[in-house]
Amino acid sequence: LLSARGIRKSFGDNEVLRSIDLEVRRGEVVVLIGPSGSGKTTVLRALNGLETPGAGTIDFAGGPVIDFAAPVPKAQRYALRDRSAMVFQQHNLFPHMTVLQNVVEGPVRVQKVPKARAVAEASALLDRVGLAEKRDAYPFELSGGQQQRVGIVRALALKPQLLLFDEPTSALDPELVGEVLQVIKELADEGWTMVVVTHELSFARQAADEVLFMDGGVVVERGAPGTIFTNPTHERTRRFLDRIL
Ligand code: ATP
Repeated sequence: LLSARGIRKSFGDNEVLRSIDLEVRRGEVVVLIGPSGSGKTTVLRALNGLETPGAGTIDFAGGPVIDFAAPVPKAQRYALRDRSAMVFQQHNLFPHMTVLQNVVEGPVRVQKVPKARAVAEASALLDRVGLAEKRDAYPFELSGGQQQRVGIVRALALKPQLLLFDEPTSALDPELVGEVLQVIKELADEGWTMVVVTHELSFARQAADEVLFMDGGVVVERGAPGTIFTNPTHERTRRFLDRIL
């Protein structure tokens, strides 16, 4: 579905990504792990067109190969953005809108989906994550876990080809983490394609097809979760896992 090659990104003198290669096949779950500041969020933002890399290419099925060696036309950037949807650490729901309004906002305003259809689809999605009865509630009336599930539904409502999760549970109280990971796991089982940045290694172990360990802006090691967690080949991976497990 997606092939990114040689992605580089600097902020001033700070080289944050130093040639990242990433392949995501349809239906696959790729998990990015690594210490804070290693560049994981920047990778997601680059895949989503929110950051423009200084070099590299992104080939997203159905679109042109985008080459960041030259200035990228706006239309190409927008096309890239439309193919994926991001779920953030903080859900970023609009506080003055109900759950339903939050979910239909993107489809109706951005994608020009007729309101009635957007509402029907949003209701079905809310039902699927167990939030049917919260349709007309406001975000402040929900628990953190419920808010984050609405955040996920809001991404699904855009019908992206790729879901990007940026530490979706790291802002939650520990007892709320499970319900959100469960939803993500179910989506993975249903065949959604996703790239997930997380520190939840047990989730990675269960859900990931491939795990990439990043450090200092490079992918140090990649492989099946069974291999990388039980038998990492790099010292840096081993040290990171020792610290986090
Ligand atoms: P974390 O787990 O803390 O989110 P991360 O691995 O996701 O870390 P990034 O958020 O990608 O790391 O950040 C990588 C580096 O890029 C950090 O040093 C950060 O300070 C820097 N950085 C990220 N965004 C910007 C920006 N917009 N301007 C300047 N520096 C940035």
